[in-house]
Amino acid sequence: MNSIRNIYCVGRNYALHAKELNNEVPASPFLFAKPTHALVEANGQEVVLPGDRGPVHFEAELVIRIGKPYEKGIKVDDLIDSMAIGIDFTLRDVQSELKKKAYPWLLAKGFPNSAALSKFIAFPGVEECKKVNFALVKNGEQVQSGNIKDLIFDLQTIVDFSAVHLGLGEGDVIFTGTPEGVGPVSDGDHMSLYWGEQVLGDFTSKLS
Ligand code: ZN
Repeated sequence: MNSIRNIYCVGRNYALHAKELNNEVPASPFLFAKPTHALVEANGQEVVLPGDRGPVHFEAELVIRIGKPYEKGIKVDDLIDSMAIGIDFTLRDVQSELKKKAYPWLLAKGFPNSAALSKFIAFPGVEECKKVNFALVKNGEQVQSGNIKDLIFDLQTIVDFSAVHLGLGEGDVIFTGTPEGVGPVSDGDHMSLYWGEQVLGDFTSKLS
């Protein structure tokens, strides 16, 4: 995890998830960022999450890591070196209040451990990625499943847009959006992050 620099996230990038939260599907990529203190590796341990600020929702997402400096015209298959499955943890009530005030989402999305990541695996390329679903299993039950073929803004669009507006370089990671099925985490929930049949990471939540 030492080699991670910026953490960008894409909001509302799957139509069914935008719908479940009564949000419009955006006309251009909708980005936000997390501090590096948000990073936590899902390697079987306990992950502490805030238990005093309303529900903490899980959002399972495919996460890409940029492997080299961005240059205009570069293809994602050349730019991305690895991928992981992550959870963009969200304080949902806090986010609703921030939305009402038209404030940034930082306090709802940027708390410590809000960016959980499985181990990284080599990026197999966009077309290979579309053949495999990612999933989140909570206490033995699958709660979310997604495939990047359903992205509203595809990986190329996301990296090009990020590069133009925020800058993009080696070590940056992008949470590419969550499919439908988000929901609250309870104390002691066991979460497993799947890539196809393979578990890339797991942890137990600790609300405090
Ligand atoms: Zn998200």
